[in-house]
Parts: sequence; structure tokens; C-alpha cells
Amino acid sequence: LGGSISRALQQMSNATIIDEKALNDCLNEITRALLQADVQFKLVRDMQNNIKKIVNLDDLAAGHNKRRIIQQAIFNELCKMLDPGKPSFTPKKGKTSVVMFVGLQGSGKTTTCTKYAYYHQKKGWKPALVCADTFRAGAFDQLKQNATKAKIPFYGSYMESDPVKIAVEGVERFKQENCDLIIVDTSGRHKQEVALFEEMRQVSEATKPDLVLFVMDSSIGQAAYDQAQAFKQSVAVGAVIVTKMDGHAKGGGALSAVAATKSPVIFIGTGEHMDEFEVFDVKPFVSRLLGMGDWSGFMDKIHEVVPMDQQPELLQKLSEGNFTLRIMYEQFQNILKMGPIGQVFSMLPGFSQELMPKGREKESQAKIKRYMTMMDSMTNEGKRSELDSTNPKLMNDSRIMRIARGSGRQVRDVMEMLEEYKRLAKIWSKMKGLKIPKKGEMSAL
Ligand code: GDP
Ligand code: MG
Repeated sequence: LGGSISRALQQMSNATIIDEKALNDCLNEITRALLQADVQFKLVRDMQNNIKKIVNLDDLAAGHNKRRIIQQAIFNELCKMLDPGKPSFTPKKGKTSVVMFVGLQGSGKTTTCTKYAYYHQKKGWKPALVCADTFRAGAFDQLKQNATKAKIPFYGSYMESDPVKIAVEGVERFKQENCDLIIVDTSGRHKQEVALFEEMRQVSEATKPDLVLFVMDSSIGQAAYDQAQAFKQSVAVGAVIVTKMDGHAKGGGALSAVAATKSPVIFIGTGEHMDEFEVFDVKPFVSRLLGMGDWSGFMDKIHEVVPMDQQPELLQKLSEGNFTLRIMYEQFQNILKMGPIGQVFSMLPGFSQELMPKGREKESQAKIKRYMTMMDSMTNEGKRSELDSTNPKLMNDSRIMRIARGSGRQVRDVMEMLEEYKRLAKIWSKMKGLKIPKKGEMSAL
């Protein structure tokens, strides 16, 4: 997708006269790309019409950066489509809220329930899980296992077949136990759809949830709109969670889910593990939807802030996808030296949100310096330095202790640094295989 959009924009910037036809050609190309990313046809068409209204042909003709103007317009339009205009209900810590999860079987409800509970538990909440899926054999076991692992109280039954009864019992019990986030997991069987929606309606009526969360698998493609709408028609869906964003799906279905439910996406699932769960952030998501639609912006930034002689090497390393501690070290050097490279990486999903949150630059700098001191104390072993390993998680305890000693830090500081490395390496690896613009092409972007 990123490729075809880039191509479309490239053609656009090559055209000497920007007339309506050129703009239309460009938009048609982008339309195709968005459809491939599972954005619903009607939404794409609306966007196309809006862009035409926004983009001023005179501006384009006047020789402004055409590519930029159109790209920015598309980017903004997609961001707007992901904003239903009102925030969802947000549970308050210490005050009881009931949150009901709905979605088709396999969409990731049970997994996401635990992630959601765990996410809040880490922030000091008292969550609890209720298994109201009495349809699928093993549903309770799965929830029980997840909950036990995360040390979260749970309620369910192997015998009871009435989901409404269990849901009510579970919610009552946890209200009495003063839990502040009572999460109700439900069934999502494929067949007997009418029965499923009726069941959701009954569970909802009986438990009176403060928030109904619709869980959607990002890979369901064009089916997203109808699916989301079907749930919205039987229960008051208030927010959406999109799962399996770690896979190949482009996630265009999220736009459909927002449009169909008129509610915002609040989290995304990025893996099977409990902590592979992120607060949804519109801009990085749209970048991703555009297949690094912001890739050219990223290139511009690299161009701007990475020293000229280091650029080809950095891009080469990016495309290889091997992220070593040394690369991390060098990028940290850049961040400390030039500050703005933080902006470069913030364009990539998940890159700098945690490393360098806005408004906390001082703390972040201190953290980066701390990490670097620890990396400084990694010694060369034989020819290769530990810094060049692409698998530092294999580092054993004695090495970690040595690094801690050598840098005057605690073992847990070294562990934290290695965790950060792992996180960045994962993001870095997503860029593997990206086409690197050839010399001279970069400034054309
Ligand atoms: P449910 O039927 O809606 O309750 O779905 P489950 O929670 O049982 O999940 C179905 C499958 O999807 C399981 O194998 C999960 O491990 C997997 N899964 C759920 N969320 C994610 C995710 O964000 N990423 C990946 N890769 N797998 C996920
Ligand atoms: Mg389930």
C-alpha cells in the first residue's frame, strides 16, 4: 500500500501541470490502495470527495510541495474518519464500572479481556473477570488460565449453561468485593447469529454495563462494517478494540468499525501476550494504514537531522531489519546531539511514546544517558562486541551483573535497558525490506 501511494504521489509530483485530471488520477490510485487495506468502499469514496474539496488546485499549481499537500490532506482526512467526535465512557479508578466485551468468536475477546484487566491492574485498579461464554467448551478454562496467570479474580462455571445468570452472579459478587473494573467476557459463536445477538442483548440488559466494548480482528477485511453494525444494533457499543495488529492486516477495518458504531477505537492488540496491548493513537495508526504513509516524512526527517554521511548506512540498516545494541547506541547519540531525531522516530508506531513522552524530555534524556553508560561498559569479547549482537537477550546473568557493576548501576537497570532494546528491535524489524530511495531520490520525496 505504501508503495502504491508513494507511486501515485510520485507521478503527481512529476506532472508538470497540475490540473484536475492529474489530481483525479492520483486520488484514484490512492483509492485502490486504501481498498486493498480493507477500508470500506463508501468511506474511501467519501474521503476522495472531501479531498477534492480541501485541496486547492491553485496552491498545487503555484509550485508548493504538491506531494506534501495531498499527502497531508489524505492523512488528515483519515485521522478525522477515526474520530467519532465524542470520547467513550472512561471507567474511573475506585468507582465500580462494568465493561462488557462483545465480538465474534476468534476475534480475541477472551485474550483482550485479560489484557484490559492486566493493563488496569498495573495502574493500581482492582479488576475482575466474569466468563459469560457458556457456549464454547473450554471457554471458562481459557479465561481461568489467563486470569490466574495475571492474578486477577475470576468467576465462571463449568455446569451452568445460562450466560445471563452467570454474568449477573459474577457482577454481583465482584461488586460486593469492591472491584472497580468488572469485565464480562461473552460468547461469539459463528452460527445462529440471531441467537447470539439476542444473547448479547439479554446479558447487557441484565448486567447494565457502563461500557460495551466491541472487539474486532483486524484481518476480517471488508466484513468489518457489517459486523460492527450488527453488534451495534443489538447492544450499545461504546468503544472498539482492534486485535491482531501484529499480523499482516493493514487495519483499514478499524475505520469501518468507527463509522458503523460511531465510537472510538481505544486500544489495539499487538500479540498473543498479556502485555501486547497499546492505547490507540490515531496518527501512528494512520501512518501504518498508509503503509508508512508517513514514510516520506520519515525520509525527510532523516535527511534533515541525521548527518549526511550517516544516512545511507542508517537506511541500509533499517532495510536489513537487524537492530543491534550498537545501532541503538548510535541513535541515542543522535537523539542527545540533535534532539529532533526524536521526532523522526515518533512517526513510527510505538517508537518514542514510551522512550520519550512529550513534556518529559529532561527525564527521557537522563534515561537515555543512563542506558548509554551501561552500553559503554559492555566489553569486547574476542572480535565481536556485545553491542553488535542481534540477540542480547541471550546475555546471561553474570554478564548482566558485570555490566551493572561496570556502570555503577543496578541489575534491574540493565534489564530495563535490554527490555527497551527488545521493544525497539521489534519495531525496527517491521521496517525490514523497505525500499530505500536511491541517492538523489530522497530530496525528491
Ligand atoms: P475469542 O473467541 O473472541 O474469545 O478469541 P480469543 O481470545 O480466544 O482469541 C482467539 C485467538 O486469537 C487466540 O489464539 C489468541 O491468542 C489470538 N489473539 C488474540 N489477540 C491477538 C493479538 O492481538 N495478536 C495475535 N497475534 N493473536 C491474538
Ligand atoms: Mg472467548
